[in-house]
Amino acid sequence: MSLALFEAKKPPVDPSTLKHRDLLSGDFWRQIPRYADVDEATFLDHRWQAKNTITNTKKLLEALQGLVNEAFLEDVSAGFKKAPMQVRISPYLMSLIDWSAPETDPLRIQFLPMASRFLPDHPKLGLDSLGEQADAPTPGLTHRYIDKALFLVIDTCPVYCRFCTRSYAVGSDTESVDKVSLKPTPDRWERALAYIASRPELEDIVISGGDVYQMRADWLSQLGHRLLDIDHIRRIRFATKGLAVMPQKILTDDEWFKAIVGVNDRARAEGKDVALHTHFNTAREITEHSQRALNRLHGAGLVVRNQSVLLRGVNDTFEKMGLLVKRLSYINAHPYYVYIHDLVQGGEEMRTTLQTAIDLEKQVRGITAGFNTPTFVVDAPGGGGKRDAHSFEAYDRASGISRFTAPSVKAGQSFFYFDPIDLLSEDAQARWRDPTEVKRMMASIEG
Ligand SMILES: *Cc1c(COP(=O)(O)O)cnc(C)c1O
Ligand code: SF4
Repeated sequence: MSLALFEAKKPPVDPSTLKHRDLLSGDFWRQIPRYADVDEATFLDHRWQAKNTITNTKKLLEALQGLVNEAFLEDVSAGFKKAPMQVRISPYLMSLIDWSAPETDPLRIQFLPMASRFLPDHPKLGLDSLGEQADAPTPGLTHRYIDKALFLVIDTCPVYCRFCTRSYAVGSDTESVDKVSLKPTPDRWERALAYIASRPELEDIVISGGDVYQMRADWLSQLGHRLLDIDHIRRIRFATKGLAVMPQKILTDDEWFKAIVGVNDRARAEGKDVALHTHFNTAREITEHSQRALNRLHGAGLVVRNQSVLLRGVNDTFEKMGLLVKRLSYINAHPYYVYIHDLVQGGEEMRTTLQTAIDLEKQVRGITAGFNTPTFVVDAPGGGGKRDAHSFEAYDRASGISRFTAPSVKAGQSFFYFDPIDLLSEDAQARWRDPTEVKRMMASIEG
């Protein structure tokens, strides 16, 4: 019997549109020769992941022997000599890279530099391009917006990203950068907490770094509770890329898991808000392991939001960004922001134009719930803060210069973003090589 319960107004969907639900599972790591004998229990153990994380180029090159050709190895080795970030790759991430085509692999692009792909830095680049240090009343605490502050508690991460805005401080010194120290010292923390307590307008603290995954459970718990002790603090966000790098920690580091859940439970009981902010850039990074980790957090009442960086060749097409947004939503990690890539040393080849972000946003809006639709933002160089990509005062697509204002952050000032030069016309590229022309281009956008 066929009883028509409804009239189909839409044609049946093509199953490929449900691809976001196909999460990688099984023992995919065994394709890598050195993990061929690793069983699931071992692979799931965060201690094994941490112990086997590759932390120097020599070990990386050893691990890659036989997986890739000699020319690629030399290219990466030369890449690290020029790069502002050191290497840190977990076995989990190693297993997600497609080693048959590493040149174009979206994870390789994010974590392993190839010297041959480098483009010259943009002439307007400075190392702390967001001016975080200029807005810091005490080292590692940036108070830029009225009611919220960014607390950089620690200077290490579970992975090092080539596009990191904080390459001025995060990780150890490299051949190209000597870093500002943001070690987790009790004295530095005390000064930051005293400042926060002294400013009644502060309601919202972003705890970042570095990365809170690297914090000892007891420190994380202490810091969370110290912040909750302050009456005017209403919201705390813990930032970690860890979920994308080592979801195993959420599943097997019970001490750490309990620490964050404990802070969340107390916050909820007191009418306050805690969230975990994470950082997935491609759908490929979201596996069944990620889903299990997210389910554990979700089940314990933790809100998870995601911030991505828009990266050329990684997530700069609708196909890739749309899939990422749908898959994030599927595992309850709300897509919150997509950042237009900051101007960072050695990152030029990964940047896109502001126009790319605007075009992507137009396509992404409408594919899923509004609360799972990310806002595309420019973190305005020079400390203007995050601005909606569409809210520029002027945008000269020929020179690639855009101008933003931030009335509630720094009234009366202008902030500029610069598209990568290699994506401009030949003519515009020539103008950028001529200082007089650069002055002219700037003058015309200043309006
Ligand atoms: C990003 C950021 C925040 C938090 O901003 P939201 O837009 O609320 O996510 C706070 N302080 C600084 C300095 C930041 O860079
Ligand atoms: S995890 Fe975040 S802070 Fe750490 S290197 Fe990557 S982008 Fe930078």
